[in-house]
Amino acid sequence: MTKPAPVHFLLVDDLEENLIALDALLRRDGLVLLKARSGREALELLLAHEVALALIDVQMPEMDGFELAELMRGTERTRRVPIIFLTAGNPDQQRRFRGYEAGAVDFLNKPIEPHTLRSKADVFFELWRERQEVARQRDELKAATAENVRLLAEARRAADALREADRRKDEFLATLAHELRNPLAPLRNGLQILGLARSPETATRARAMMERQLGHMVRLVDDLLDISRVTSGKMRLRRELVEIRSVVESAVEASRPAIETGRHALAVKLPDERLWLRADPTRLAQVIGNLLTNAAKYTPDGGRVDVSVEREGGHTVVRVTDTGVGIPADMLPRVFDLFTQVDRHLERAQGGLGIGLALVKRLVEMHGGAITAESPGPDRGSTFVVRLPLAAGDPVPQGVSNVPAEAPVARARRVLVVDDNADAAESLSELLALSGHTTQTALGGPEALSVIAKLRPDLVLLDIGLPGMSGYEVARALRADPSCSELILVALTGWGSEEDRRRSAEAGFDYHLTKPVEREQLEGLLANLPRRGA
Ligand code: ADP
Repeated sequence: MTKPAPVHFLLVDDLEENLIALDALLRRDGLVLLKARSGREALELLLAHEVALALIDVQMPEMDGFELAELMRGTERTRRVPIIFLTAGNPDQQRRFRGYEAGAVDFLNKPIEPHTLRSKADVFFELWRERQEVARQRDELKAATAENVRLLAEARRAADALREADRRKDEFLATLAHELRNPLAPLRNGLQILGLARSPETATRARAMMERQLGHMVRLVDDLLDISRVTSGKMRLRRELVEIRSVVESAVEASRPAIETGRHALAVKLPDERLWLRADPTRLAQVIGNLLTNAAKYTPDGGRVDVSVEREGGHTVVRVTDTGVGIPADMLPRVFDLFTQVDRHLERAQGGLGIGLALVKRLVEMHGGAITAESPGPDRGSTFVVRLPLAAGDPVPQGVSNVPAEAPVARARRVLVVDDNADAAESLSELLALSGHTTQTALGGPEALSVIAKLRPDLVLLDIGLPGMSGYEVARALRADPSCSELILVALTGWGSEEDRRRSAEAGFDYHLTKPVEREQLEGLLANLPRRGA
């Protein structure tokens, strides 16, 4: 416990020897005795200290004790200081009365009886100490109350945030169900059309429509997987030296269907100089593609979308501007939050899940960059500005290209497709057969092993989540068999994290593809089938 602050008594007497005598009588631990030779000095000391008791000689030249007391009563700071008057001889009734009126609590006659003085002084000393203690407890209580109020407000804020997150999650689930169901109806219609269609044109149209709808679903699910990877810290960038121009070009390519659907005019302004970044080209193209798709989506038909790339110091700045619905000022800082949608009920051709911009922001930040949104207001368009650090130095590598090569025409191969989902296995096998490959299917691990012994395939597309014998086990068994040393093993799975890739490589797979696999991707692989270990 901290020592209590000292208690102050004020002694007022014009005679030095009286002050010395009083000092000697009253001296004790924790008590400070302030001494004044006149009323004026006394008032100065009273203003400078909190005084617990004033012992005032009545007879003083200039200002006498009563006058001093009256002045003390008239001042807020000193009016409650208790006073004991010291008088020579017994004061008469009238003088006593004046003294009490001026605030005296007591009179002591000179010569002062030491015992009486000390016991009265003790009363005031203890009284002051108690007052100090009460004040200390009151301060503590005040602080504790303030702390409680603060904690309560904090708890309330946390509860509000939780409620808000919960509400957004509920809304998100509803949106998710809605968004996933949306493409299903046209897909089912498409299937029926394919069954009934008499003309090849009708079938071609249905297929194109089904491709679009499927593509939309795959994008939704990819976004979902990406955001969960990013938020759990599992996303890894595959950085390389890339020129921003090629990133923007592939983003423009990817978003062209959305721009064309909205019949928007698109203008792309690229700098003359080549700006190099150390970045993951696929992820950066995803970022800019996402901004372009949003620009197309949130702009009424026949609008305008502008993309510009500039150098600003050590950064490259990409701006995507549209002439669309704009963003209200209060929503600007929030559009990058997960599940945030300005108008969930907006009637629009293609909805979304409210995760695109959250993903975009995290990807930009993973590249050491920053993104901001600007809008002059509703219906006045929006601009998204992405700022990315340029690669250090002035690297101009040879032959770097981020444009994916066209899928070459494949030579006929022998392929085995292993999947416990018979539809998945059959449809993939049929697709490859249509391109001229010899294909076969197996629904489980043991069946796969026996088919491989007979068919001697060049490549096996192997699902990992097989019942009984998993894809890993099948792969390990094949790798242990010297007669299969040339066989190319491709893991086919819904799981695509670094960890999943590491596990499949460990089991002996040569490639790891995530479902649904693009036909071009497979054909590319089959056309350039490398020799094992090459
Ligand atoms: P989604 O488009 O799936 O709803 P996003 O995360 O991509 O989710 O965008 C979040 C919200 O930000 C959108 O719902 C929309 O309200 C707003 N927004 C995004 N881009 C634009 C834009 N270019 N113009 C106007 N509003 C936009």
